[in-house]
Amino acid sequence: MKVYKSISSLIKKVREVKKQGYKIGLVPTMGFLHKGHMSLIRKARKDTDYIIVSIFVNPAQFGPKEDLKRYPVDLKRDFMLCEREGVDIIFTPEAKEMYPNGYATYVNVEKITDTLCGASRPGHFRGVSTVVAKLFNITMPDIAYFGRKDAQQAIIIKRMTEDLNMGVKIKVMPIVREKDGLAMSSRNVYLNRKERCRSQSICKSLKSAKELFNSGERESKKIINKIKRVIDNQPDTKIDYVAIVDTKDLKDIKRISGEALVAVAVWIGKTRLIDNIILN
Ligand code: AMP
Repeated sequence: MKVYKSISSLIKKVREVKKQGYKIGLVPTMGFLHKGHMSLIRKARKDTDYIIVSIFVNPAQFGPKEDLKRYPVDLKRDFMLCEREGVDIIFTPEAKEMYPNGYATYVNVEKITDTLCGASRPGHFRGVSTVVAKLFNITMPDIAYFGRKDAQQAIIIKRMTEDLNMGVKIKVMPIVREKDGLAMSSRNVYLNRKERCRSQSICKSLKSAKELFNSGERESKKIINKIKRVIDNQPDTKIDYVAIVDTKDLKDIKRISGEALVAVAVWIGKTRLIDNIILN
């Protein structure tokens, strides 16, 4: 496994790899890796010949009041985990390598970035699509892997890839959860013991939504209210949004007839967590 920090040397390497006819799999991450990330890497290992994992805490996707400065980092551990999974290359550039002085180009996917996390985090998805477009240009992957945990992100990246004819196949993998159901996230380390306990209400609320749906309920409003009640039952939790939307255009669904994405964002103390399920 080799670690690259320089874009130009990585591009040189990628060109060699492609010349040899290898299929490249890219797993973009912000590091502090957990089993969710590992599931993407393992899938890439199965599908492709050459795996590139990027570890980059992308400043462009953080708002001025967000957690960029305190985002957890443990590169040594990340390298060890990647090595163990047979990753070929880690790309971990400095911010100034990705956004040098004079940097001025951003990718803006319209409409589907205005709702859910896009509404609560203005500019977030502009940063995400820009960095992913750059990573695609640098690593030239055949397939790139994303987690359903960030469902809106995956939908936006698919849209961008299609709209800009990037020729990269996007694969979206299921959410990996802790034993008690909490969706794995690098941000879970922010939670203290009480908060960690309260955070269970998020996946519990989604479970109860699924139960309600399975018992025949189709009115989004009723399902949303159920989710809100379960979360509000816990102290020090603040709902950012609960929504039931179409899985393609992310528009609100009033009555569920086909596939629906149930997405939630909740503040547990000072930590904002997201989760979702698909009802079908
Ligand atoms: P991050 O490092 O949080 O930016 O995540 C990098 C990639 O891993 C994204 O595509 C995420 O959706 C995915 N990911 C994060 N957490 C999970 C999880 N619990 N299960 C599956 N994929 C995940």
